[in-house]
Amino acid sequence: MSPATPATPLPRRKQGRNFPPCMACHADPGFTWTCDCGVAFCTECLSRNTDLWMGGGRTWRCPQCGKEHLGPNR
Ligand SMILES: [Zn+2]
Ligand SMILES: [Zn+2]
Repeated sequence: MSPATPATPLPRRKQGRNFPPCMACHADPGFTWTCDCGVAFCTECLSRNTDLWMGGGRTWRCPQCGKEHLGPNR
């Protein structure tokens, strides 16, 4: 008989999360656009790096792992 697996709560709470500083300009604006792999950009650097943008600016693509994320220009 397998032990009952406890219901794991989804990590939905993002409040109080510390955002890492921007890896491009090393600014720490209190919020950065982050990827699971550790990449972090401030809004300014993200908008400046137009080669990261996909689909006409709706999403940005992580330069390290290639994962796509929703950007600020939704
Ligand atoms: Zn920056
Ligand atoms: Zn990534």
